Amino acid sequence: RATVRRTTPALRCLSAADGSTTQPKERRFEAETASLLNIVSNALYTEREVFLRELLSNASDALEKLRQKRVANESVSEGDDELKICISVDKEKKQLVIEDSGVGMRESELAENLGTIALSGSRRFAAEAAQKEQDASAIIGKFGVGFYSAFMVASKVTVESKSYSDAVNAVWSSADGAESYSLGEGGSKTTRGTRVVLDLKEDAEEYLQPARLREVVQKYSSFVSFPIEIDGELA
Ligand code: ADP
Ligand code: MG
Repeated sequence: RATVRRTTPALRCLSAADGSTTQPKERRFEAETASLLNIVSNALYTEREVFLRELLSNASDALEKLRQKRVANESVSEGDDELKICISVDKEKKQLVIEDSGVGMRESELAENLGTIALSGSRRFAAEAAQKEQDASAIIGKFGVGFYSAFMVASKVTVESKSYSDAVNAVWSSADGAESYSLGEGGSKTTRGTRVVLDLKEDAEEYLQPARLREVVQKYSSFVSFPIEIDGELA
């Protein structure tokens, strides 16, 4: 297997030095989103490893969008020119980090894309879950809940991002069961792309093990055409 050794520490896989965050704002989720989050984070769903498939698929979509912008000769901000996905862990902080060098999101996009469930899959899921509340875990598998599936394994999710077309970076975060999320300029993702930081729940610490991550990545990454590194090694 090909191995890529990185000299940068794990959590700086794609990024430069820390930035600062200025006055994040608290914003309430729309009611539908809050109830969806509640269902997802409490669901006793046995295949919760699919959260990683969802985050990889988002990273892959973002990289593909960036690739297409380059093909179309649109100007994209400098940064990590290599289009790839980095997965890393911080065992002490019990954090799992999924980072990409794709199109990224500006502050307004973080609010639109992660604060609402306008997107069809999640909305259908929420509608059905509201009807059959007792059986939410069954329908998670049926619909796939995209980004929010991170809350199956994380007590807090932080998304740091820098858009390909913006000089300013932004950070979104929300905790398990919260009715609101915080959003502001800044954060430590200072190069183009997105970094999703999961503070893992106590019963999800298996995702701090590179071997376990590799297993899940290999199961679900056949659709990803960009390199995926786990702690600096190609998966
Ligand atoms: P879907 O992928 O089906 O659109 P998700 O809930 O998985 O729904 O993601 C919602 C939206 O958030 C995506 O459509 C995308 O616009 C944005 N998004 C999520 N993750 C990323 C990422 N890593 N980079 C850029 N945009 C992202
Ligand atoms: Mg998705």
